[in-house]
Amino acid sequence: MAMTDTPFTPAPAVFAEIEGSPARFPVRRIYCVGRNYAAHRREMGGDDREPPFFFSKPADAVVASGSTIPYAAATSNLHHEVELVVALKGGGVDVPVDSALELVFGYAAGVDLTRRDLQTASRNKGQPWDSAKGFDQSAPLGPIRPWSGAAPQGRISLTVNGAVRQDASLADMIWNVAEIISECSRLWRLAPGDLIYTGTPEGVGPLISGDQVEVSIEDVGALNITIA
Ligand code: MN
Repeated sequence: MAMTDTPFTPAPAVFAEIEGSPARFPVRRIYCVGRNYAAHRREMGGDDREPPFFFSKPADAVVASGSTIPYAAATSNLHHEVELVVALKGGGVDVPVDSALELVFGYAAGVDLTRRDLQTASRNKGQPWDSAKGFDQSAPLGPIRPWSGAAPQGRISLTVNGAVRQDASLADMIWNVAEIISECSRLWRLAPGDLIYTGTPEGVGPLISGDQVEVSIEDVGALNITIA
């Protein structure tokens, strides 16, 4: 067998849409920030002194805007979490806050779909969150808007069947985008293609079959998904 042979077809690379471009953004890893808005930390029963933290999803959890996705398996409490997503064009370790934004390719609207019942059970048992967060099609992602300079600061909102569920300001983040990139780079070597979901504001809640979910982030873009 030649060195290039494989016993089965390799999994395809994962790409995200780039707004206004035929080019596509190749996704490497997905990092996520937990409890990065004070009001959401409170609604989850968190301690006000507890800093945000990281978890991850597999790259192939990305789902494009406009998709219809199945109600997730093994849950009866699938939750929406609207989030600003940072897409990186650069990387490194121990990135200083002052230069962190130089790594940013652009921003997108995203949803961190969560099997809340599994998350609560994991938390109570001190077990990992992977099954609650890193499941198939758990990372809906809108088109990435190329961006340079100061991070977006506008409204972030999510509606279900036209009713507002989440509506907050990106300025309410506990760690801002530069701080998130810097903190993340202390734990992992960041690289081009990495996505970081930056945490959700208050108002998370359940989805049911047939729900139409629409997300909007001021100056960044939109995203819509339907739960089959
Ligand atoms: Mn989240």
